[in-house]
Amino acid sequence: MSDAPAGWEVVVGLEVHIQLRTGAKVFSAAPWGFGAEPNTHVDAVSLGLPGTLPVVNLAALEQAIRLGLAVDAEIPETCAWDRKNYFYPDNPKNYQLTQQARPVVVGGSVEIELPGPSRNVMGEHRRVRLHHAHLEEDVGKLTHSAGGSLVDYNRAGVPLLEIVTEPDLRSAAEAEAFLRALHALVTQAGISDADMEKGQLRCDANVSLRRPGGPLGTRTETKNLNSISGVRAAIEAEVARQARELEAGRAIAQETRGFDAETGRSHVLRSKEDAQDYRYFPDPDIPAVRVDRARVERLRATLPERPFDRQRRYLGLGLPYTAASVLVADAATSAWFETALAAHPANPVALANLVVNDLAGLLVASVAPGEPAPSPASSRVTPAALAELVRLVDAGTLSKQQAKEVLAELVRAGGSPAAIVAAKGLAQTSDAGEIEAVIAEVLADPALAGSVAEFRAGNDKAINALKGPVMKRTKGKANPAVVDQVLRRLLG
Ligand code: ADP
Ligand code: MG
Repeated sequence: MSDAPAGWEVVVGLEVHIQLRTGAKVFSAAPWGFGAEPNTHVDAVSLGLPGTLPVVNLAALEQAIRLGLAVDAEIPETCAWDRKNYFYPDNPKNYQLTQQARPVVVGGSVEIELPGPSRNVMGEHRRVRLHHAHLEEDVGKLTHSAGGSLVDYNRAGVPLLEIVTEPDLRSAAEAEAFLRALHALVTQAGISDADMEKGQLRCDANVSLRRPGGPLGTRTETKNLNSISGVRAAIEAEVARQARELEAGRAIAQETRGFDAETGRSHVLRSKEDAQDYRYFPDPDIPAVRVDRARVERLRATLPERPFDRQRRYLGLGLPYTAASVLVADAATSAWFETALAAHPANPVALANLVVNDLAGLLVASVAPGEPAPSPASSRVTPAALAELVRLVDAGTLSKQQAKEVLAELVRAGGSPAAIVAAKGLAQTSDAGEIEAVIAEVLADPALAGSVAEFRAGNDKAINALKGPVMKRTKGKANPAVVDQVLRRLLG
């Protein structure tokens, strides 16, 4: 699976920033959140006023450690903050607090799934190594217009975790797979909402080309990509540009680039700065943090099952690949299905099929064309109702057809399957005596004598012509399995 230009191998490393889910900023109690009036989520610390002191938000540290545990990383005994010095109005202190020398998370890897040969077939799984992940503070936001520039410090001090991969990715498609996997991991663990439209997950893509098996080539870094399709397009464009340069015998300059998703073109922002340009030094205001091992173990216990571990478990229960993948794709659906499964663990396949085949279609049909359909978790169908419905089918109380009718009613109005069955008089009968009486009537019908004779002469399919009238006389309530059994007994 490679979109590399002939004769070249693509090498990509990503630096992903996620805003950690916390109630307050990373060094002060100021609240933060998307969409507030400019400069309302600020306080003396996030404005960088002289004389103020940062206090580390324990919740941000804990979320960073949880990410580390979720990717099987090392959590070093201590982590510490450094000042990254630069002058720019988005940064009121003229330095950004970050963890340059002693990050909170070291190593680890993220499991990804590469696209399969088709939508319904699982692709290859492999692990992408992380170099480290470090905590830092987000910076303010500048808006430039003809009349001047505006600055909003609401975002200044929002806790960011920068996750840095090794140069392990080999195509734009692999980078996309990595971001999807990371997104599922952090959202399902409640580490970050990672809403790309709100800038909660942003990505810098480092790209280089090399001769297959040769040493790494010079890379460029494309900054501030804020959609998965943008990352993919930026990498594809950069790969094509570097191939053109290299094929023409020109060297690649190590530089920082910007990408315009509208035009698909990239441009130089600056030649790559070196670490020494920032004059990093340990922040004297924040003592190094010693990470208590017992706390780490308590945090480990708060992590849910990882999406791909859950996918594997569902496959082990016999779920088809597409169902297993759809059901672990987002936090809400995953939690909703798990609750249903816990309520009726006996038949996971029926439960999954009802969701993926029937419920999905009903939800799409429940809204006007073009409108987004509700997810199962945001629909009126509760996990308990779904479990009860499958239990009724498994017990022979409802036919599959009747279950679909009940499901449609659940989508429309919610409630419990038992109540809907009672209100609609839907319950299926499995009473052999009752069914036998109806079958006797059917077999006595002269119009069906031909089918009876055919079956007895050895044409097994002729039995179907007799089942229809039985179902009709019982208004569809007879259990088809019992009908089949009794018919064969009476005919045989
Ligand atoms: P810096 O310290 O300058 O930011 P790093 O060595 O930390 O550089 O690497 C930053 C990112 O660039 C990492 O994700 C890394 O995997 C990636 N990277 C490093 N070298 C290359 C390369 N030759 N090609 C592509 N990506 C690379
Ligand atoms: Mg870097």
